[in-house]
Amino acid sequence: MTEMRVGHGFDIHPFSEDPNRSMILGGVVFDGPGLEGHSDADAVAHACIDALLGATGLGDIGERYPDTDEKFLEANSLALLSDTAKAVTEASWKIANIDCTVILENPKLSPHREKMENLLSETVGAPVTVKGRRPEKLGTLGREEGIVCFAVALVSR
Ligand SMILES: [Zn+2]
Repeated sequence: MTEMRVGHGFDIHPFSEDPNRSMILGGVVFDGPGLEGHSDADAVAHACIDALLGATGLGDIGERYPDTDEKFLEANSLALLSDTAKAVTEASWKIANIDCTVILENPKLSPHREKMENLLSETVGAPVTVKGRRPEKLGTLGREEGIVCFAVALVSR
């Protein structure tokens, strides 16, 4: 009988004050302010990683790629996601799909959506979908202080 599991991932990053930092989401570089973080701060990739690790019981992102480790300074998060997908496969799980929701007031996600989906899907070897949602000016996200990403992953074996 096929065993199926779901996992949920969440990530949040504030916008950076550093004018030289770019925002990277789902491996795609956006115009405008970047996000603060130890790695490249790719919240979409990070939420996908946590969703996969949660589904398979392989721990969490902080355990696997600690932000106290110099090795992960400015890390390419798609490479970390690829590493996670490999660990998932090695544990005999097959990734069915991942679905993400990014909550941000600005910039617009839609022009980059297809590229993000293609890059993420290639990285995990399964369909990854990304949806953008505006926070309607409410709270910290509405004030454009940062962005949030949620992800749900389904795996089977
Ligand atoms: Zn993150």
